[in-house]
Amino acid sequence: MAAAFLASREPVAYFPGVQDQFGHLISYLRLSITDRCNERCVYCMPQELQEWLPHGDILSYEEIARLVRVGASLGVNKLRVTGGEPLTRRGVLELFRLLQEIPGIRDLGVSTNGSLLARAVPDHGGRSMAACLRGYGVRTVNISLDTLDPAAYARITGRNFLAQTLAGIAAAQAAGFGPGEIKLNCVLMRGRNEDQLGPLIDFAGERGLLLRFIELMPVSTTDVLSDENFLPIATARRIIEKHSGSLVPAPAFKTNGPAAYYTLPERGGQMIGFIGAMTNLHFCESCNKLRLTCEGKLRPCLGSYLEFDIRAPLRAGASDAELREFFFEVVARKPKEHDFRDNYQPNRKMVAIGG
Ligand code: SAM
Ligand code: SF4
Repeated sequence: MAAAFLASREPVAYFPGVQDQFGHLISYLRLSITDRCNERCVYCMPQELQEWLPHGDILSYEEIARLVRVGASLGVNKLRVTGGEPLTRRGVLELFRLLQEIPGIRDLGVSTNGSLLARAVPDHGGRSMAACLRGYGVRTVNISLDTLDPAAYARITGRNFLAQTLAGIAAAQAAGFGPGEIKLNCVLMRGRNEDQLGPLIDFAGERGLLLRFIELMPVSTTDVLSDENFLPIATARRIIEKHSGSLVPAPAFKTNGPAAYYTLPERGGQMIGFIGAMTNLHFCESCNKLRLTCEGKLRPCLGSYLEFDIRAPLRAGASDAELREFFFEVVARKPKEHDFRDNYQPNRKMVAIGG
């Protein structure tokens, strides 16, 4: 098998990536660094009392950096730090400092709800969190924003943080994250935010931010996805066209993930992304990702139960070569596509996997 063949070789700097059996070239590692969050989004965090993972179960920053180094030696060159809310983890800038120094990593991003981006960081001279992240080489910030209505924001996220989040977006812009480097992600929910698609487009357009709409995925809670609250992308597009004029496919425009982009010619060519895991049947075709959960499970796919505990060998003193072999074995088991459509996964918490 390719895995055994490759594992027997010394890693090559800027190795092009490990390929799975379907031709996916793995170059992107998503790191969930905490299962904790300061918000309680209805589609993500179970509402019942949350039992956080004990601290000892969570990979330390040094452990994460070691695994990233191993991944980088195999061709991983893009990282996205997520959670839970990654910016709630104590001393998180230390992780970014470590990640920035890893040879081969060319693209470092963070996914956040935005609520802490404007906060002043005392041991960094009071600079904003956003400015510190930029200082540590973060190139892109993905910020969740499902609505601009404060009451709806509180209903969806369980917290009254809209003003803080908007301040966070402004702080990211002030820190120098430019067009295309800040993405706003909106999860589509019938009955909760379909009236917000137009206002969000206006908001993003006025600020030069890239807005993406995400279909609800069946993870985390038992009632997250039902016929009543699922808003398919096709319906969202019709709503958008009524507000903003025709949407024209822009297949040449690509970011790192599975988003399909369209332009709005009547709005100066504003670009809008759609991430349709449920209705886009080509969603997995160009998948280049592995995921590392905060408790050290390597997952070949967000929408599959498959996960492999790399923390055990890591803590048992595995060599880099052994950890590389572990990566190969996980990549070799990467499924052709997710099984969200027929395999409901309420016990898999999005906060722990890292969306
Ligand atoms: N706390 C950060 C945030 O909210 O962006 C990072 C973690 S969050 C799990 C990452 C992304 O997953 C967010 O854009 C969130 O909206 C999305 N997400 C969470 N649960 C989801 C679900 N059931 N379906 C679709 N997207 C979901
Ligand atoms: Fe927290 Fe992000 Fe999940 Fe909302 S989507 S509960 S902000 S981790």
